[in-house]
Amino acid sequence: MKEMILTCDRCRVSIPAVGTYTLSNGKGKPATLDLCKKHQKELLVWFSPLRTAPVPISKAAPVSDEQWNTMLQSTYKYVLKHKEVTPKQVHTDTGLPAWRVNELLSELVNGKKIVRLGVGRSSRYKLKG
Ligand SMILES: [Zn+2]
Repeated sequence: MKEMILTCDRCRVSIPAVGTYTLSNGKGKPATLDLCKKHQKELLVWFSPLRTAPVPISKAAPVSDEQWNTMLQSTYKYVLKHKEVTPKQVHTDTGLPAWRVNELLSELVNGKKIVRLGVGRSSRYKLKG
């Protein structure tokens, strides 16, 4: 009796496969692999997240250039109005996330629109000149 068996695509010798895996990104033809127990285990490692805590969505979500420029403008206007500000003030009054405020203030400093005084928690930002 002739019998056909599925063999592992990743083994150099004929090892019976325990299953067929399909990889698809939703477009085009999906790739398939017949895998033995050992190679199945290796593959499943790739599908296990390495990070235990997910990055908060708000932080992970990229903003468009337009959104960024709008936030940058409002941060700059806030500094113009208040002359000297702390990141916490900007965060509280504009409602922008604190980490975002720090990014925006850094960009304004790099663009030489404002200057930073002090470091760490006590740092303040004021208009240049
Ligand atoms: Zn194998």
